[in-house]
Amino acid sequence: MLDIRIDRESCMGSGNCAFWAPEVFEVADDGVAVVLDVEDARLEDVRRAVDGCPTQSISVWSDGVLLGG
Ligand code: SF4
Repeated sequence: MLDIRIDRESCMGSGNCAFWAPEVFEVADDGVAVVLDVEDARLEDVRRAVDGCPTQSISVWSDGVLLGG
C-alpha cells in the first residue's frame, strides 16, 4: 500500500506538487500541502511531484519502505 507523506515543517506551499499531480496533492488554506487521494495516484505523476518539490518535503513509502523523496 502506497503511503505519501508531506513534511509540514518544511513545506512552503509552492504548489508544485498540486501542479504535477492534482489528483494527489492540494495546498490547503493554511498554506501547507495535503495528500488527497493515494488510491488513484499515478506513480509517474507522484515522482514528478517529488522531484519538483523545492524543499524535498514529499516522501513516498510502500509497506513501510521509503521509495523516494
Ligand atoms: S511542492 Fe513541496 S513545498 Fe511545494 S506545496 Fe508541495 S510539498 Fe509543499
